[in-house]
Amino acid sequence: MVHENCGVIGFFSLNGHNVIPYVIDSLRALQHRGQEAWGFAVPSKPPYKSLGLVSTSRNFKSIVSKFNSHAAIGHVRYSTFGKSNLENAQPLKIKDLCIAHNGTIANVEELSNMVGGCTFSPQTMTDTLLAAQRLMMHLEKNDNMIHAIRVLKEEMIGSFCFTLLTDDGSVYAIRDTRGFRPLVLGHIEETNTYMISSESCAIDTVGGKLLGDIQPGELLKISSKGIERQHFSTSEYHSHCAFEFTYFAHPSSTIEGVNVYEARKKIGHYLARKYPVKDADVVIPVPDSARPAALGYAEELGIHFEEGLLKDRYRKKGSMRSFIEPYHGERIEINKGIVPIPEVIRGKNVVVIDDSIVRGTSSQSIIKILRSAGASKISLIVTFPPIKYPCYAGIDFPSQDELLAFQNQNNENNDLESEIAKSLGADKVIYNDTVTLAQAIGIDERELCFSCSNGNYKPLGIKPVFKTRAEVKGDLEN
Ligand code: SF4
Repeated sequence: MVHENCGVIGFFSLNGHNVIPYVIDSLRALQHRGQEAWGFAVPSKPPYKSLGLVSTSRNFKSIVSKFNSHAAIGHVRYSTFGKSNLENAQPLKIKDLCIAHNGTIANVEELSNMVGGCTFSPQTMTDTLLAAQRLMMHLEKNDNMIHAIRVLKEEMIGSFCFTLLTDDGSVYAIRDTRGFRPLVLGHIEETNTYMISSESCAIDTVGGKLLGDIQPGELLKISSKGIERQHFSTSEYHSHCAFEFTYFAHPSSTIEGVNVYEARKKIGHYLARKYPVKDADVVIPVPDSARPAALGYAEELGIHFEEGLLKDRYRKKGSMRSFIEPYHGERIEINKGIVPIPEVIRGKNVVVIDDSIVRGTSSQSIIKILRSAGASKISLIVTFPPIKYPCYAGIDFPSQDELLAFQNQNNENNDLESEIAKSLGADKVIYNDTVTLAQAIGIDERELCFSCSNGNYKPLGIKPVFKTRAEVKGDLEN
């Protein structure tokens, strides 16, 4: 099982403008979706790839002139799969097709057999590479992208937002039928450039205008003829990832027609109405994703909002997000970069708002920090419901035995929230529920994915066999 959650982009300038500066800026804007590697591809050249953050690269001037092109696709990578090596970084190139992928293909062993029966090994193969090889096989039989995607869709189980680039300079965007991961279309008027992006924050960064979502089940082609849009499949209900709205997406982004910042603030309002801690002295967010929800919670109940916890951005990895770091030691390192402001915490009944509890590592250290800063009582309110099951649609919490809510769910004497509070050292833990979360986001609950909370994998069409983290990562020494 290979997991990737990443950011993808695609550009095509109808004016023949060099899009590489856009590529670099937009990948930088999507950096929150993946910090392990980045890369891009232009027609008829091997893809450019680099490890680490876009901003740490130095030779932008030469990159921009060397890869000068009116068409490109790009990728930022976050993966729990094997080593964070350059070989696994994207885009990948198979013959004249370059591919960038956000999502997870669940049936990699089956796909592996279809591309020649090689033994699938997480160290040597990615789900994206298998999908690309299979797609290329279909295109070689019948050079028709919509036909090839229709066939591949029947063979492949999982979530996918692909951007593709062919050597003739055409750019494609493909979004799975359920729409697990976001994908939007934009336009930059100044250079008559169309742009595909995982999130609209990247479109804003390059001065573009959001035109809307690429629809689930849609194939979009951009070439010198302009834009062509076709549906390769439809689904009765979509399964947009609810976690994007609480944690993953950038707050400035608008996905599925909903602005993420506004959704997070509303989540705070709804939580305050349903789960009020009326005697709290202060509401504090865990930086950064929970800030709008904390603001909403405080606003609704008329309680002081304070920045009681700050991220030390100058520490090594200080501004990074702990959850998406692949290795435990690195997660601990990031958590140590949270600095309390004792003056707003000491002697107070504190409500602390966090976006989720996955392994509990961050939450435990936050509670410790608040205690040592003198909090008299701590209620932890979590904007996402309990995460008890692995995600098979592109987010990195792959092994069930690591999930705190799973570890604590079977105790018959106590309810889950009391057990979690005990294990974290908090006085109280309150989880959001799927109904309240969907109402706050403003999307019908049936159109959202909650598989990691309710264990219903029907939208993905799989019956998963849960594996350990070492098996999933193919990285047994960690
Ligand atoms: S399982 Fe959870 S994290 Fe994965 S797509 Fe569904 S809601 Fe998002």
